[in-house]
Amino acid sequence: MATELVVLGTAGAPMPVRGRGGIASALIVDERIFVVDCGRGSPSAFAGAGLDFTRLDAVFLSHLHADHIGDLPGMLLYPWGARTGDDGPLAPIRVYGPSRPASLPAGDAIFHRQTTICPGLPAPGTADLVGHILAGYAYHLNVMPLDCYMPDAGALVRVTDIDAAAAAEGRTKVPVVVADDEGVRVTAVAVTHGRAVPALAYRFDTADGSLVFSGDTSVNEDLIALAQGADILVHQVADFSYLRRHGVDDAELARMAALHTDVTQVGGVAERAGVRELILSHYLPAEPDAIPEAEWVHRAGKGFSGTTTAGYDGLRRTLPAT
Ligand SMILES: [Zn+2]
Repeated sequence: MATELVVLGTAGAPMPVRGRGGIASALIVDERIFVVDCGRGSPSAFAGAGLDFTRLDAVFLSHLHADHIGDLPGMLLYPWGARTGDDGPLAPIRVYGPSRPASLPAGDAIFHRQTTICPGLPAPGTADLVGHILAGYAYHLNVMPLDCYMPDAGALVRVTDIDAAAAAEGRTKVPVVVADDEGVRVTAVAVTHGRAVPALAYRFDTADGSLVFSGDTSVNEDLIALAQGADILVHQVADFSYLRRHGVDDAELARMAALHTDVTQVGGVAERAGVRELILSHYLPAEPDAIPEAEWVHRAGKGFSGTTTAGYDGLRRTLPAT
């Protein structure tokens, strides 16, 4: 019995880059596998890590930006044929993520929409998203079973919207219990990622230890509270000074400060949370050759008395730590 983290992808932002996959992590707890975020290439990274799609139990989405959900369709649909056993279809893959926001956020004079896509439902939640995925792939789901055996498509997925709106509005600071079964307790809080509301961070507690995934956030007190005493904190990291040197102006950087945690801040987050190990992920800039791993670690680890690790695609950690 053990809990194992497998970092599947570590790139920040939607743009594909060479040498890093999009943000995704897997957590193996005994026989079950949980995935946090489904960025670019995550189904391939899942297979590449030697993980078994028949053991995929649940997917947790931090928020509904494309870099976190772009390969959710593949994560559900590619292994569909394997989702069966002696007793028929396997239990549906559970998908958890933010509910619809209360309203569509407005922009400002500089950053604003020109066209509103899907005006009837311009800000769908996770259940809406999965419903639309199934609708969009209805041809595959309805036609492929006519030529090869497929488990009942109706048993493929079950979605739970997480209502973190109250937390996002500051009405409560209490983490939402997302799931609590067979020794895995998952809790979430709303974090601060610009106008992406709600955006969530997740904490997993098992008999072997605890892991927290920041999602995308600026420095956030509720995340620090959620991560208290965790064994591992997987946290996104940006280097604003690099971006400044590469043409991002001050106004844009000020905006980004409401979206992301800078490399000079993340060590303080880990220290205040009292975690044992900080694993950097979802890098901005995302290109592996932009900033050496040692530099990320050196700068991120300032002010943190635990271990700082530059996350990379394929990194593994086993709990309890030996
Ligand atoms: Zn992101």
